[in-house]
Amino acid sequence: MEIIPLPAFSDNYLWLIHDGRHAVAVDPGDDGPVARALDERGLTLAAILITHHHGDHTGGIAALARPGMPVYGPAAEAIAGVTHPLADGDRVVIDAPALSLQVIAVPGHTRGHIAYVGEGMLFCGDTLFNGGCGRLFEGTPAQMHASLARLSALPGDTRLYCAHEYTLANLEFALAAEPDNPDRDRYRERCRALRDEGRPTLPTDIATQRAINPFLRCDSPSLRAKLSMTDAPDERVFAELRAWKDRF
Ligand code: ZN
Ligand code: FE
Repeated sequence: MEIIPLPAFSDNYLWLIHDGRHAVAVDPGDDGPVARALDERGLTLAAILITHHHGDHTGGIAALARPGMPVYGPAAEAIAGVTHPLADGDRVVIDAPALSLQVIAVPGHTRGHIAYVGEGMLFCGDTLFNGGCGRLFEGTPAQMHASLARLSALPGDTRLYCAHEYTLANLEFALAAEPDNPDRDRYRERCRALRDEGRPTLPTDIATQRAINPFLRCDSPSLRAKLSMTDAPDERVFAELRAWKDRF
């Protein structure tokens, strides 16, 4: 099984999972890059997975879907072309490429946002980013905090395939928010080197995110000192941090 990032728009990655013959596209916001990748590699598209309703994640559905092809997406959001609406706890089983993924509801960025986890992989759309998290367009800080807590509790070696290359900007904010984090400083250098070579900083993994992502580190003394919130509950620290990032 191979998972390849297809760059799209200014900073999206459309993920293609394939076994050499059959492929699954995750969040195909644009059909062009997906169609070209299928063509170049001689792959047949077997299914589409959607995490949430935003156009940069759904725009390619109509052009890519064929009659009978399953298009999975969140039941709680109205998305044209979705044939298999999913809710928390549902499972997606695909024969080729052989995939078994569990659905986790992760409201926050949008109200009905879902993530797909299994086979050591997590496809989480615009919920958890490398070094950051999605904006709260529809959900509350409490919802997003709970969603991120569920993702953070996955096994540390779970590889994270998020939908945007926001890493360097996120890590610049991380440096401001949590000044004292040497692991993050080293990781930032590695990500800079990757971007200098024009390479993606993804996938990352959950253990790395627990170590460097301020939005998963609301208990960090350095971060709490910076926010002057030494004794506040994690959820309030998260809300303050997210609001600061919006202005950063
Ligand atoms: Zn989005
Ligand atoms: Fe997006």
